[in-house]
Amino acid sequence: MRLKDKVAIVTGAARGLGKGIAKKLAEEGAKVVIADMAGAEEAAAEINQEGGTASAFQVNVSKQSEMQALVQYAVDTYGTLDIMVNNAGINRDGMLHKMPAENWDTVIAVDLTGAFYGTQEAIKYMRPKGYGRIINISSGSWLGNIGQANYAAAKAGVVGLTKTAARENARKGITCNVICPGFIETDMTLKLKEVNDGAAWDSMMQRIPMGYAGKPSDVGNMVAFLASDEAAYITSEIINVGGGMIV
Ligand code: NAD
Repeated sequence: MRLKDKVAIVTGAARGLGKGIAKKLAEEGAKVVIADMAGAEEAAAEINQEGGTASAFQVNVSKQSEMQALVQYAVDTYGTLDIMVNNAGINRDGMLHKMPAENWDTVIAVDLTGAFYGTQEAIKYMRPKGYGRIINISSGSWLGNIGQANYAAAKAGVVGLTKTAARENARKGITCNVICPGFIETDMTLKLKEVNDGAAWDSMMQRIPMGYAGKPSDVGNMVAFLASDEAAYITSEIINVGGGMIV
């Protein structure tokens, strides 16, 4: 119970990685706000049934007023905010020379601007209290990936945003770190099983030195560590959770 009585928000936590992260934080004793566009109630109910403490808040991370309301909701419901995990993200893949500007705008709005609002609103609350943990979910794709110009740009932006937040707030008791998952089994990646009768999935497995996709709990374990007191001297870091895939 490394996070007993801590209060956390996890965005995009109705399913996939976010849900795995929320479950791990709840197991460690944190009270968790499940923030998502849809399905947050069900995920929160699941955590409560398993003996954790969670509640749901419907939010679109790309809307500043909704992110302000989210932080306020956590404070009103549980009395404070200690841990902010900006996880919500989408992809709209396609080669750069054919990418509609709309697919650029949408991915930047959710993956980068959403992380900006989440980080900014959390930090506004955490600075006066002199404590906080910001954990932003980027991707190994931030280094560049064919078909992902929009996603890579957004995820590289998350790295710059987080490292800047880390430096600006290092003397305020706030740590800010980035996790780059490699290839984790979620709805976002399972789509690949339908491409070329599973051949695309198999070829991805060959690119992972460990030979298999990660689980949301693999990322959840790292988030829980970064959120704990054991990680008090770790800030501005990029941590890969990718079975050796990201170099
Ligand atoms: P997912 O599609 O399974 O789940 C994403 C969740 O975010 C959904 O519940 C969705 O409703 C929510 N969401 C989407 N847009 C939102 C918005 N505007 N406001 C609020 N919630 C919104 O995806 P996932 O695989 O769980 O990915 C989670 C994060 O991890 C993303 O940021 C993704 O880029 C990142 N990531 C995933 C992988 C992977 O292998 N799955 C790898 C690297 C990075």
